[in-house]
Amino acid sequence: MNKIEHIGIAVKNLEESNELFQKLLGKAHYKIEEVATEGVNTSFFKVGENKVELLEATREDSAIAKFIEKRGEGVHHIAFAVDDIEAEMKRLADEGFRLLNDRPKRGADNKLVCFIHPKTANGVLVELCQDAGDERPETGDESEE
Ligand code: ZN
Repeated sequence: MNKIEHIGIAVKNLEESNELFQKLLGKAHYKIEEVATEGVNTSFFKVGENKVELLEATREDSAIAKFIEKRGEGVHHIAFAVDDIEAEMKRLADEGFRLLNDRPKRGADNKLVCFIHPKTANGVLVELCQDAGDERPETGDESEE
């Protein structure tokens, strides 16, 4: 794994939290992006070479809504940048970590992502992310590559 790519923070209200984090970090977010498949709205701030990702649920059944209901707002996951996500997923599975998806999926900010179950990582939800390298729009086409 390379650097910490971003820290994901679950928030109830993205607009209010954007203002709060703008005050905290002394700069505005640089993008807002909805990830419809995950039921979240995201907002990104650059902090040096790392980022902060705010996540707001757009549906009651989204993982963020469930997280906030159970644990309240706060740090939700830590994302690490990797060069080859498939190789890293295989390595971690072989090490006994439980992956939450068997294949990389499309995340926010033009990334391919995979999550590791917090139960196998000391309670921390870990995200692997690799630059997807293109800005392919969501087509809803799930056909095999
Ligand atoms: Zn993330």
